[in-house]
Formats: sequence, structure tokens, C-alpha cells
Amino acid sequence: MILSDTLLNYLTIGVIIFLGLFVALWISLIIWAYRDMRSRSRDLFAQVLTILVVTLLPVIGILIYLILRPAETLSEAFERSLLEESLLQEIEKKSHCPGCSRHVQSRWQACPYCHVRLKQACVNCQELVEMQWTICPYCTAEQPPVVPPPVPANEVDAYDSTYLPSEPVDGILEYEEDDPTSWTISD
Ligand SMILES: [Zn+2]
Ligand SMILES: [Zn+2]
Repeated sequence: MILSDTLLNYLTIGVIIFLGLFVALWISLIIWAYRDMRSRSRDLFAQVLTILVVTLLPVIGILIYLILRPAETLSEAFERSLLEESLLQEIEKKSHCPGCSRHVQSRWQACPYCHVRLKQACVNCQELVEMQWTICPYCTAEQPPVVPPPVPANEVDAYDSTYLPSEPVDGILEYEEDDPTSWTISD
């Protein structure tokens, strides 16, 4: 009898220790689930529901919580929204023509509306590079300096002195009707 009494005592102590550890784990899980839910949602109802599920269903409750909890924490969601916003700004900045502010595509070399040059093809690898870049980021070839395009003849001011004859002329200067850079002398 003495032996079985001792065994019973040991068994009781073992069960008490096991229950104590289990309760400690249970309470820790409730606290962890509450903190975790608080970092994922500001909704008070969701926080209370989390505590109820994890408290009323020991161990199983935490599994249910892990399956159903929101995928990202509030700080992760905030970081993602910041990233999305900055990406959107980058796209907005790149997809507008600096000349006329109309939408342009990233592969366009010139704006079809106002004819502003947007990008140039690399002299070596033909990849599109920004106009102000002096080397190609793809193949490191040096890019020629940007030369402004010649002004079309029909946009030249008819009285621009650049297009007057260099020598004094004897007679009347007559410009061609649609080309002010060409002129003839008549008496
Ligand atoms: Zn434009
Ligand atoms: Zn290149």
C-alpha cells in the first residue's frame, strides 16, 4: 500500500505540473493572439472575438485564429500603401509629356502631339535612354549631346535677319509664299 500511495502522490504531482504548464501555455496563447490581432486590426469586435475563440477553444482556437487572421499587419499594410503610392507617382511622372502634359507611353521616343523628344535610342544597343543621359545604362556607350532639331521652314519668322541676304541688294526682296527662307530679287 505504501508503494501505491507514493505512486499516486507522484502521479498527482505530475498531473498538477502538466495542468499548470497547459494553463500557462493557454494564457500565453490568448495574450499572443490578442497582441497579434491588435497589430492587424483596429476593429474592437475582431479583437474581442479573437480572445473569445482562443479562450473557449484551447489549442484548437489558436489554429482557427491562425487560419482566419488578416494576412498583413497594419504596419505592413501602411508600408505597402506607401510603396504603391510612390510607384504610382513614378508612373504618373513618366507617362506625361513635359511639353504638353498629355499621356505618353514609356516606349515613345517623341510626343506625337507636340513633337517634343522624350527619349533617344542608344547609338550602340538601340535601347531607349533618357535625353539628358550621357551614357547608356545598358551598354555604357557614350551618347552624343542632344542637338535641338532644326526649325521647320514654315515656322521661321519671315523677317528673321538670319535669312536676309548678307550683301546689300539692289531691288525688292521677294519671299517665296510658303518658304520665308527662300527669296528672289526683283527690280
Ligand atoms: Zn507633348
Ligand atoms: Zn546602349
